[in-house]
Amino acid sequence: MSIEYREAAAAFSQHYIKPLDDRVDEENSFPYHLWREMGKQDFLGVTAPEEFGGLGSTYLTHVVVAEEISRASGSVGLSYIAHSNLCVNQIARNGTQDQKVKFLPKLIRGEFVGALAMSEAGAGSDVMSMKTILQPAPGGYTLSGAKQWITNGNTADVLIVYAKLDNAMTSVIVEKNMEGFSVGRKENKMGMRGSETHAIFFDNCFIPDENVLGQPGKGAKVLMSGLNYERLILAAGPIGLARAALKETVEYTSTREQFGHPLVANQVVAHTLAGLFSRLAAVRDHTYMAAALADQGKLINEIAASAFLEASIAGAEITEQCRLYHGGFGYTLDCRVNRIARDAQLYRTGGGTEEMRREIIARSEIPVYNAARLAPGKS
Ligand SMILES: Cc1cc2nc3c(=O)[nH]c(=O)nc-3n(C[C@H](O)[C@H](O)[C@H](O)COP(=O)(O)OP(=O)(O)OC[C@H]3O[C@@H](n4cnc5c(N)ncnc54)[C@H](O)[C@@H]3O)c2cc1C
Repeated sequence: MSIEYREAAAAFSQHYIKPLDDRVDEENSFPYHLWREMGKQDFLGVTAPEEFGGLGSTYLTHVVVAEEISRASGSVGLSYIAHSNLCVNQIARNGTQDQKVKFLPKLIRGEFVGALAMSEAGAGSDVMSMKTILQPAPGGYTLSGAKQWITNGNTADVLIVYAKLDNAMTSVIVEKNMEGFSVGRKENKMGMRGSETHAIFFDNCFIPDENVLGQPGKGAKVLMSGLNYERLILAAGPIGLARAALKETVEYTSTREQFGHPLVANQVVAHTLAGLFSRLAAVRDHTYMAAALADQGKLINEIAASAFLEASIAGAEITEQCRLYHGGFGYTLDCRVNRIARDAQLYRTGGGTEEMRREIIARSEIPVYNAARLAPGKS
């Protein structure tokens, strides 16, 4: 299944997505027509059940599709992951039958765009300190607060939003046209410019009971269990970007001549690229192994965190070395690898920073560290 979908995803992404990547970076906007096109290709509901229009396939297949889309465009890949994993997969895993019937088919066909809103201006790494609140109201709740850095926040028809209800995390599904929901300014980012990022606001926005995702007050479970799958699929992003950068760089260094021969004829250049290829293979295998564990229901926190940690560091370092091999051209915005290297930097921060991924691993693997952290007087 994964191999079949790699071929389909690679063919579609190289043909339809890659040619748009220049423009989306320059214009700082997403090519919206792609949602329906990706829907037709069955990319938007890879892990969602077939009865709701999904592919009913594996996390490994989802990783492969996300990697191929990111290889064509980092920006499209990021928005794709926010839609297909952060939103669709969360509804597929936690939604009621009615929620799945109402939202999944349209999200999976690309008629609706999805997003997930967790971060706030004052609550990023320390996400549990969020200030967005839910208050009981007849027939449901009112939602008030502001979320920051929301991928697809401006175009999303369906947003999974985390908020506090009596200090207990609760997740709800917000629909675009609900009164009291509004969108703030678009971020002017250094990379991933085709993936639109917005602040969003809730001003006494009424959320009916039927739009609570999971149980009221039990949103921490929804949030935390979703984060493992999120980190796994996000790891595919830097892997796709590193593959694209290496391909471009082999081509460039094979034709660019200095001192009478191609750059890559210098053993140091060829061996450095060889090292980057083997590093990419290692992090890719790591991520595929984590995906295989997810498919067996065995994906644990530290495996998801370490796969994403290693993929993001490798992605950022590989793409930066590739940019440097383009010399002065690599410093210009005309150079594709310049964009790829800028895009790859996002994965060091987005989806929980590298430090937070290390924290997850340290808490799990180093008992004395974890005990010291939990000792009285520490937080
Ligand atoms: C392009 C983009 C898209 C995004 N999309 C989404 C989205 O769709 N939905 C969503 O909810 N969020 C999204 N985010 C938000 C993202 O998850 C946060 O930016 C990230 O979690 C970091 O939070 P912060 O920016 O508040 O940084 P901070 O938490 O302020 O961290 C700043 C620095 O301090 C470090 N740090 C913090 N605490 C500690 C500590 N205890 N020990 C050591 N170091 C520490 C961090 O690791 C980091 O290096 C997106 C962000 C970006 C840039």
